[in-house]
Amino acid sequence: PETLLSVAGLSTELRTRKGTVHALHNVGFTVRPGEAIAIVGESGCGKSMTARSIMRVLPRPIDKVTSGHVRFGGTDLLTLSEAAMRRIRGARIAMIFQDPMSHLDPLMRIGDQISEVLHAHKKLSGEVLQNAVRDALAAAQIPDIERVAGSYPHQLSGGLRQRALIAMALACDPQLLIADEPTTALDVTTQKQILQLLRQLVTERQMGLVLITHDLGVVANICDRVYVMYAGQVIEHADVHDFFDRPQHPYSQGLLASLKSLSEGSERLSSIPGAVPNLLAPPSGCRFRARCGYAMDICAAQDPAQRLRHDNHRDAACWLVEDKEGTNV
Ligand code: SF4
Ligand code: MG
Repeated sequence: PETLLSVAGLSTELRTRKGTVHALHNVGFTVRPGEAIAIVGESGCGKSMTARSIMRVLPRPIDKVTSGHVRFGGTDLLTLSEAAMRRIRGARIAMIFQDPMSHLDPLMRIGDQISEVLHAHKKLSGEVLQNAVRDALAAAQIPDIERVAGSYPHQLSGGLRQRALIAMALACDPQLLIADEPTTALDVTTQKQILQLLRQLVTERQMGLVLITHDLGVVANICDRVYVMYAGQVIEHADVHDFFDRPQHPYSQGLLASLKSLSEGSERLSSIPGAVPNLLAPPSGCRFRARCGYAMDICAAQDPAQRLRHDNHRDAACWLVEDKEGTNV
């Protein structure tokens, strides 16, 4: 099927007191209708900044997307006027977040908040509006619709609040949903239910889903393809089975090893030693090389991410991988 969202060459700079942070460099990925992709990586690797760049909600007005395109429904979102972008945000592309409390109005009943979204984007009113609110709450599989619609956010459990946020996101029937760590704050059972709900929505509505998470366990259950980010770059992409079966980038291998040791009940999460590079002055060559046990001369001289291809079935930004593929090992 055709592509719903196509991001390429996306670079974003944040202006801080300490200087320019090169938060994203040349980020690219695609999402098709009915497909869930995951963007994974440690915190600070650029996952949320990718979502914010696409939605054009960067932290401050002086922060800037400096290059790239974000094709959605035949237009480049980066070239739209702010007014046109506002019509897309929350309607054709919706977002949900880790902390629903900070994205729900504490002083408004859930039903009224959803009404407001529907009124703003679809100009619905009266009984049609009330039915649409109920439909949205039902789509988020909220069991007691009347009670939840009449509640304020603080009167609901964490799981119900996240469902309320999902209902609000679904209200305008978006083609694309971006979910940034949507289940991180929830208990394991609720987490599972929310993920199942998201997967079901993707399949039933042929919606595209971008799931942003640091948790590979979450990815395995509901995503079709995986993009791994490190230090502001995409460093590997693959379909989910290939990825878990045979991750190619040493960083991905490290992430997967720590997931495994966690599930095997080891005392401590064996994370990859070392810290992510400072993006005020990104290192030359491979950005992972200070933490990589395989680093070679070429890794300091040339950035393998420049050769990463997004039209390939799978690819990894690592000089080792290029060698392996070349010699067919
Ligand atoms: Fe390690 Fe070099 Fe591959 Fe980077 S390019 S991950 S430093 S082997
Ligand atoms: Mg984040």
